[in-house]
Amino acid sequence: YVSKEDLGRATWLLLHSIASQYPDEPTEREKRDAKNLINAMATLYPCKECQTHFKTVIERNPPEVDSSVSFQEWMCKVHNAVNEKLGKELFDCAKIDERWGGVECF
Ligand code: FAD
Repeated sequence: YVSKEDLGRATWLLLHSIASQYPDEPTEREKRDAKNLINAMATLYPCKECQTHFKTVIERNPPEVDSSVSFQEWMCKVHNAVNEKLGKELFDCAKIDERWGGVECF
């Protein structure tokens, strides 16, 4: 059994890690892949309620994939939109690098 909370924490770990390692000057291919990854969440994420809400979030805030900083900030913004829906405290996006910038696998 996988809880909505464990699934969410694992997914945010992956998404913020990808954003933190995203290139400063992405290729067209990388930009397309980043957009596809996000858009896929609205159709494939294995929690229906989450899919439905996230779809409206990304319709209002299309993925910003032109640079690492813009993708990281965008990720923080949409994670906060989910936090807001769930009545959680909003995360200070100035701390994004401190929280997720150390993610790199060797
Ligand atoms: P999480 O929200 O999982 O966050 C993990 C860690 O990320 C936090 O401990 C904090 O250090 C850091 N963090 C928090 N906010 C930010 C931010 N804005 N930017 C950067 N880092 C941050 N759950 C539902 O019940 N209903 C839903 O509709 C729903 N939709 C979801 C949609 C998506 C796309 C995803 C990935 C998850 C969704 N979830 C949903 C799960 C929910 O977001 C949480 O993951 C879950 O409730 C566990 O929350 P948590 O408090 O442990 O921390």
